[in-house]
Amino acid sequence: MDSSLSIPVSPYDVLRCLPTSPYEEIRASYLRLALETHPDKSEGSSSAFQAVQWSWEILSCSKRRASYDARSKSQHGLGSTSSLNEASVLPSEEIFVTDLRLGENGVSTHQCRCGDVYSLSFQEKSRKVDLLPCSGCSLYIKINYPCL
Ligand SMILES: [Zn+2]
Repeated sequence: MDSSLSIPVSPYDVLRCLPTSPYEEIRASYLRLALETHPDKSEGSSSAFQAVQWSWEILSCSKRRASYDARSKSQHGLGSTSSLNEASVLPSEEIFVTDLRLGENGVSTHQCRCGDVYSLSFQEKSRKVDLLPCSGCSLYIKINYPCL
């Protein structure tokens, strides 16, 4: 099906930036491409969207980015393929943990487009649970944690 995913590509190529690009530039590019390739848009394709998510997964975290850079230097041309398997659940949206609204009881919430909410309990937050199902529909969001 998604044969394009088996071709080893650099996350930098996917996000149309350079290994020297600063984080902010990569993030801006990611947000634009995620919108462009989103499967909800008729011209979008889910494999392109997955590739964008996969690339952002690597480049959004300075540790993962550094280890990707080190690996691609040692085995040139062969990017990591292991993280592709983690993308079996496709999140509809990706936000930073700091974008959640913290409620009184320690539960952080984020409004879903269906009108219901995603909620992250204090315990889940401390375990760094990063995929949250909506309480009202079948959508998921991905939570990004600072990598320190
Ligand atoms: Zn929902």
